[in-house]
Amino acid sequence: MDVIHTVAWMKQVAEGARTTGRILGLVPTMGALHEGHLSLVREARKQCSPVVVSIFVNPKQFGPSEDFQKYPRSLEADRAALEKLGVDYLFVPPPEEMYPPGFGTSVVVEGLGDRLEGRSRPGHFRGVTTVVLKLFEIVQPRFSFFGRKDAQQVRIIRQMAFDLNLYPEIVVCPIVREPDGLALSSRNAYLKNGERRAATVLYRALELFRREILSGQRSAAPLVASMRQLIESEPGVSLDYAEIVDAGTFEPVMACRKACYALVAARVGATRLIDNALIEQAGDSFTVTL
Ligand code: AMP
Repeated sequence: MDVIHTVAWMKQVAEGARTTGRILGLVPTMGALHEGHLSLVREARKQCSPVVVSIFVNPKQFGPSEDFQKYPRSLEADRAALEKLGVDYLFVPPPEEMYPPGFGTSVVVEGLGDRLEGRSRPGHFRGVTTVVLKLFEIVQPRFSFFGRKDAQQVRIIRQMAFDLNLYPEIVVCPIVREPDGLALSSRNAYLKNGERRAATVLYRALELFRREILSGQRSAAPLVASMRQLIESEPGVSLDYAEIVDAGTFEPVMACRKACYALVAARVGATRLIDNALIEQAGDSFTVTL
């Protein structure tokens, strides 16, 4: 696996692969890799060769009071894990390579990013779309792989790709969870002992949601109320939001129909975590995927 630090070198290598007709896959990450990230890499390996994984802790997607400085970084372990999976190129640009002095452009997808994560983390999605568009331009992959864990993010990236006629096809992969349901996240490393157990309340709320859907409840208000109540009853956890939204618009729905997401976000101690469940309707039957 080649480790690439500059945009120029990354472009050259990617261009070489494209001109020989190979199918480039890109997996953008911020590192501190876990099985969630690695599941995207495995999927990329199935569909593409060569596979590029980027590790870039993107300063533009962190708010001023967020955890940019202390975000976990474990480049050596990440490198070893990616090498083992047969990744071809690891792109690790330093911040000044991505944002040289005078950098002044950003990309905003209007509407979809105003609510939920966008409201709780102003500027976050602008940072994400800007860096992802840059990565798409540098690598120009045929496919790029994202996790459904960040459902609103992937919806926004899809919209950007559609609106700007971008080349890569966006592939969405399932959420990888711990055996007790907690969605894997680099930020789980912040959780202290008691907090680790409390953090499963997000998953438990989504499970409760699934049970209620499967027993016939369709109205959003009581479904949201049960999730909120469960999360708010967990000591040390403070709820940010619990909502049911249309999977296309990310606007709240009155009742679950067609495709929706149940989205939850909460602070466990000082650590902010998010999770979601996807509800799909086929005829009269509903499936809820956690
Ligand atoms: P991050 O390093 O947090 O920016 O995440 C990089 C990619 O990994 C994003 O597309 C995430 O949605 C995805 N990802 C993070 N956690 C998980 C998970 N538990 N399961 C599946 N994908 C994940």
